[in-house]
Amino acid sequence: MIEDKNQQRTDLGTLGEFGLIDHLTKNFKINHESTVKGIGDDAAVLDFKKKIVVTTDLLVEGVHFDLSYMPLKHLGYKSVIVNLSDVFAMNATATQITVSIAVSNRFPLEALEEIYAGIETAAKIYNIDVIGGDTTSSNKGLLISVTALGEVDNEVYRSGAKPNDLLVVSGDLGGAYMGLQVLEREKEVFKVNPNNQPDLDAYTYIIERQLKPEARKDIVKLLKDLDVKPTSMIDISDGLSSEIMHICKQSKVGCDLYEAKIPLDPQVISTCEEFNIDSTTVALNGGEDYELLMTISQEDYPKIKANPNLTVIGYMTESSAGMHLVTRAETKIPIKAQGWKNFDE
Ligand code: ADP
Ligand code: MG
Repeated sequence: MIEDKNQQRTDLGTLGEFGLIDHLTKNFKINHESTVKGIGDDAAVLDFKKKIVVTTDLLVEGVHFDLSYMPLKHLGYKSVIVNLSDVFAMNATATQITVSIAVSNRFPLEALEEIYAGIETAAKIYNIDVIGGDTTSSNKGLLISVTALGEVDNEVYRSGAKPNDLLVVSGDLGGAYMGLQVLEREKEVFKVNPNNQPDLDAYTYIIERQLKPEARKDIVKLLKDLDVKPTSMIDISDGLSSEIMHICKQSKVGCDLYEAKIPLDPQVISTCEEFNIDSTTVALNGGEDYELLMTISQEDYPKIKANPNLTVIGYMTESSAGMHLVTRAETKIPIKAQGWKNFDE
């Protein structure tokens, strides 16, 4: 869809492996004191004065992304974001990443340049040092693996929720999934009629949620500023129901989630109507919103109640009460795992 026929194509072999790495990473700057040595030696050297968190994610073409509508620059950006989201979900500050890439020779140098432009943008915006990685060939397709490191004083686990704690979510849900539905539909239209120019104005927010997600660094700062330490936290990569289940299981609590409280953008609601999909189902089972889901003690409620970035969507109960969605009609239905379409995320 987004192919440019006049694109320059430089064969990946032209620069050699080392030339290629130099070329792709030449703009990366080191900003953190904890980075003693970045790219260029056998290993990076880091010097942390506090606890660190480490997390990694692997993205595989055809499983986690589809290049027919995912621009490479966005892919590079998103591969960083999905990792930073995990760092922030620990209540940590992200500081460094490594980036490993496997590409088949169907990709020219210019494709890698695009991916790295996205990585560079994310690194700049989130103030992350890119400190290393690996570059290799694959027989078919593209793989990107990013590892992120961060510093943490007060880490927050999935396991600390207590009965009566409030269940709180940042931002709004379901946008990334509905953006994907629109992109999938346009891809099918394009197959039939390549000259069709899609009008996507009505879907800009949800498409951006899919193609250019952000990680909630601002929420970690906000919680600190408000002097709120969540009792548990997780990022929403697989949909609300599966993340709630993780918290409940690991904290040994139950939960009442109020359907009417789930924050939805108007564009999600209108697109759900258009596609004839239930918006609650999308919020519960769609994926890739990268919002933060947390529990906070009742005492902290006054500190968050006026904040437009945080919505109370329910409360935790004794484990024996189970996990339920309280519908608009005030019936209670058990929350079940559906998860996202990829089993591993
Ligand atoms: P080695 O053979 O020891 O694995 P490499 O030649 O793969 O070393 O890497 C040389 C340097 O370049 C290392 O510092 C490594 O971390 C860095 N590097 C390699 N590939 C990438 C990449 N895709 N992105 C960022 N840094 C990379
Ligand atoms: Mg290597």
